Amino acid sequence: MSKLEEAFISVIVDRSAMAKIFQMADASNLVTELRRNFDAGVTRGYEWRVTQLKKLLVICDKHEPEIVSALHDDLGKPELESSVYEVALLRNSIKLALKQLKDWMAPHKAKTSLTTFPASAKIVSEPLGVVLVISAWNFPFMLSIDPVIGAISAGNVVVLKPSELAPASSSLLAKLLKQYLDPSAVRVVEGAVTETTLLLEQKWDKIFYTGNSRIGRIIMTAAAKHLTPVSLELGGKSPVVIDSDTNLKITVRRIISGKWGCNNGQACISPDYILTTKEYAPKVIDALKKELEAFYGNNPMGSKDTSRIVNLNHFDRLSKMLEEKEVSNKIVYGGQKNRENLKISPTVLLDVPLDSLIMSEEIFGPLLPIVTLNNLEECFGVINSRPKPLAAYLFTKNHKLKKKFTKTVSAGGIVVNDTAVHFTLPTLPFGGVGESGIGSYHGKFSFDAFSHKKSVLFKSFLGDSAIRYPPYSRRKLGLLKTLVNSNLVDTFKVLLGLS
Ligand code: NAD
Repeated sequence: MSKLEEAFISVIVDRSAMAKIFQMADASNLVTELRRNFDAGVTRGYEWRVTQLKKLLVICDKHEPEIVSALHDDLGKPELESSVYEVALLRNSIKLALKQLKDWMAPHKAKTSLTTFPASAKIVSEPLGVVLVISAWNFPFMLSIDPVIGAISAGNVVVLKPSELAPASSSLLAKLLKQYLDPSAVRVVEGAVTETTLLLEQKWDKIFYTGNSRIGRIIMTAAAKHLTPVSLELGGKSPVVIDSDTNLKITVRRIISGKWGCNNGQACISPDYILTTKEYAPKVIDALKKELEAFYGNNPMGSKDTSRIVNLNHFDRLSKMLEEKEVSNKIVYGGQKNRENLKISPTVLLDVPLDSLIMSEEIFGPLLPIVTLNNLEECFGVINSRPKPLAAYLFTKNHKLKKKFTKTVSAGGIVVNDTAVHFTLPTLPFGGVGESGIGSYHGKFSFDAFSHKKSVLFKSFLGDSAIRYPPYSRRKLGLLKTLVNSNLVDTFKVLLGLS
């Protein structure tokens, strides 16, 4: 029995008592209907795209309190983080799309050559068609709406499948998108593995997935069946290298902000581990303790300024990392946890084994191990011997080191002297490389992620030279070679019989 059949039967068996079950026929009808609407051309026009983007802006403007409240229900996310990282950034994203959409949509002139002379050429961005966006729980609004902005800007019809692990956000997204956006072109399907599996069985023109790399492989396998292109926004272990030639106070404040100040470490670009020298590590630990205490007080478990762990599974996963032999005795700060309210305090560890769970898997939570090196140069070996991370951070004043780091380290993105902030710049493509993902988005890159760049060449009937047609001759061969190389001088030489 295929996986799909198993999933299908499990829907019938497990959920037959429920009033409305999303079944294979629903998934298939949804895509058929949306494809019909796409083919009718509704979404292609500039006006339609602008209208939908403006509606998304209204959602951000009118419903911020509801969004903040849903995020609090799902993650205990502090209001500041919700308002800034989810709503304000989205607002920026929409405004940028509204401002630049005409330019993005405009065909771009391309150069022509002697081979095609006389001709003109352009690159036309066309929508891909019916696209599926599957998003994750940690920034449920940002990670859902931001790709949808790209999909709409590029003129696609879109189905959004939010994460079931953030249920309040998922149902609010479903409600708001239904209320504001054109239902003939934008739909939300709520659900978990079963629903996603049914959706993945359909033929899409693009699948944009955010989540872990294990599921990323499932997505890519399903997409391969229909030759559907994918963007995979995955994660990884993002290292932070701290040189002793740094402003240590600012360094640790910025690390704390990107780690515990970003959904309590449950962010794809949160610092995952620190690399510094054995000699400098005690100073880093002292500075971290001091600033953590200044930010979260003596009782960080009671702080309202950090999110909670999303659910028991993730709490137990993190506890397992912390309780492993040779790890539990390496805690130098924090380590408190409460399974009832899903809280884990900011925790720093020193010199955990490199083959421990905490150093093998993405942490995605409030634990931060420090790995010490004999000299900082060793950091390159540690980072480059591991799967390519989504982000890599360096703190230093040393220009040579900055240069070597940006040249030598391969990561989705690199930030020197800060953490996570590159996410906020729409002029930078955001995405991974290798194990941390495929493709990128944000700003114009989102538009491009959901567009096909169509080559269009216009020729006239003038200049129909015989040299490309049989019967072939040495002279034609010589001329064609010079034309393909776009070498005007050689072409004349051949024409004049000089070569
Ligand atoms: P998740 O559990 O919400 O899963 C992501 C999506 O996959 C959900 O919509 C879920 O329904 C779907 N899914 C789950 N199991 C599936 C299956 N068997 N088949 C098909 N679909 C399935 O999120 P997660 O994976 O826990 O997210 C955390 C991971 O995502 C981390 O690795 C993190 O680094 C990464 N992430 C990356 C980015 C980025 O922008 N690159 C952003 C956020 C999170």
